[in-house]
Amino acid sequence: MSPPEILPDTADGHARAAAILRQGGLVALPTETVYGLAADATGDAAVAGIYAAKGRPGHNPLIVHVPDLAAAETLAGFPDPARALAEAFWPGPLTLVLPLKPGHGLSPRVTAGLPTVALRVPAHAAMQAVLRAAGRPLAAPSANPSGKITATTPAHVLAGLGPRIAAVLDAGPCAVGVESTILAPAPSGTRLLRDGGLSREVIEPITGPLIADTTPGAKLEAPGQMTSHYAPHAPLYLGGQPQPGEIIIGYGAVQGDLTLSPKGDLAEAARNLFSCLHTADALAAARNAPAIRVAEIPETGLGRALNDRLRRAAAPRD
Ligand code: AMP
Ligand code: MG
Repeated sequence: MSPPEILPDTADGHARAAAILRQGGLVALPTETVYGLAADATGDAAVAGIYAAKGRPGHNPLIVHVPDLAAAETLAGFPDPARALAEAFWPGPLTLVLPLKPGHGLSPRVTAGLPTVALRVPAHAAMQAVLRAAGRPLAAPSANPSGKITATTPAHVLAGLGPRIAAVLDAGPCAVGVESTILAPAPSGTRLLRDGGLSREVIEPITGPLIADTTPGAKLEAPGQMTSHYAPHAPLYLGGQPQPGEIIIGYGAVQGDLTLSPKGDLAEAARNLFSCLHTADALAAARNAPAIRVAEIPETGLGRALNDRLRRAAAPRD
């Protein structure tokens, strides 16, 4: 297999990405959250390619990306308060799980056979340009091998997936750095399936109190809920007393070999999270370190998404 094409963030690069996608190929695309491994969501073989490249279990449904609310409405129904959420936060780091409409045209593999689909309108100019040029919805889970550390730069994508994909569109590092927040809106109460780049504090004024369904080890409705996920090779610990030889990832006043944010800023920490984990893992291997240890992060705002990822990275592996 040949190495992936590296496409520039230009009109030519966007057109090339769209052409590969229309032929059923796999292209890693930048979004504001993380890099996505995109394929034509209406093509069975294209979607099967995502599962194969990631080594992702077939029962884990994928997020479908569309350019705007109008495109989303051709695929799914919007029970209250879904439309208010879409109008408030799309484009942006919010995924809505919604009932599929008849004649939606999506591959059944995208939804793993469920009657619902997870939809998102990404806020990234390159992703928007490719969506419009491709002229079809794009399935795009994070562009990393299943269960491993999420990719937020083209280098992460290439290191993890290499020749298994046709191309990567290089638009530099992602601005948000953690995956989207996933909600299942319903008039009786909106469930939170995954904490992410949109914090609970800005959602609840619209939805009322969220019903949190995000505890590690809770029932496996979304793979974001799988207990071990985002795993580096080295064991990972949160907080606690550093032990000799460990690689320390700091935050705020806690200095380390690396830091998520020297000034204790949660948005900066989110942007740096997965890069720090990738770098710490490489350092741990180079120094034969016994483990990686991450400083404590406050459980508010974006801190919830950070702690969620770190708890899963620290969870016992299968
Ligand atoms: P990823 O794209 O790898 O970040 O993961 C996609 C997330 O969306 C996972 O947590 C999925 O379980 C979730 N998801 C996708 N489709 C559905 C659905 N129909 N119902 C519930 N969760 C979904
Ligand atoms: Mg992922």
